[in-house]
Amino acid sequence: MKKNFKNLLKNLLGRKSRKVKKAKVYNRKNNLRKKSINHGKHSKKLRWDRIIVLLCIIGLIISFISLHNENNNKKNTITYYNNQTEELNNELDNTKTKLEETTNQLNDTNTKLTETTNQLNDANTKITELEGTIENLNSEITELKKKTSTTSRGGTISRNTATPSTENDGTYIAFEATGYCPCAKCCDVQTGITASGTRATAGRTVAMSKNYAFGTNIEIKGMGTYVVEDRGGAIQGNRIDIYFDSHQEALNFGRRTVYLKVLN
Ligand SMILES: [Zn+2]
Repeated sequence: MKKNFKNLLKNLLGRKSRKVKKAKVYNRKNNLRKKSINHGKHSKKLRWDRIIVLLCIIGLIISFISLHNENNNKKNTITYYNNQTEELNNELDNTKTKLEETTNQLNDTNTKLTETTNQLNDANTKITELEGTIENLNSEITELKKKTSTTSRGGTISRNTATPSTENDGTYIAFEATGYCPCAKCCDVQTGITASGTRATAGRTVAMSKNYAFGTNIEIKGMGTYVVEDRGGAIQGNRIDIYFDSHQEALNFGRRTVYLKVLN
């Protein structure tokens, strides 16, 4: 009984184990086959995927490279324009500096011009003033010459110390008389015009001191009637200059004492 049971168990076990073994082998083989089949299918699928992925990667790389290049180009362009802008800014700064300098120079020139204009105006004013002064001096010179011309005639004559007579009492008064003519020796200015503005005329014109107004008629004893029309710086007091047409006549008259009286 025991042996039978043991054998049965063995058989059973053996059978079972053989079956198990067989099943295991089958399963292994089957799995291997499946695996090989799956492996084949799977490898085929993987190849396409890989190609697609590879293509995608290549595309990505190309687009990355092109983007990089584009960026580089853009960067270069930006750098170029930045440089250009910098250069232009520098030029602008230079131009501004030059403009400022030119403006300053212009302002300086304007200031100088204003100064020069003012100086010119001042100079013009001074010139006008000087011209006026010169005119005044000229007229003074003319008057002085007239006075000198009536003064210098007759050479050196001692000054008459007699008291000037302003009396109009009809009596004859002694005068120191000198002949003169319109020549350069007798008169510095040969105008022939007397200090009173009349044309000097022989037989009428005499020069006397300011005590005798222009137009005063006098009578010189033995010579006739004369009119006071001229003056002279040296003709003071009892002195009279008698006008002649020629220097010779004046010289001939010379210097002598006359007696005259005032008629009016
Ligand atoms: Zn003369």
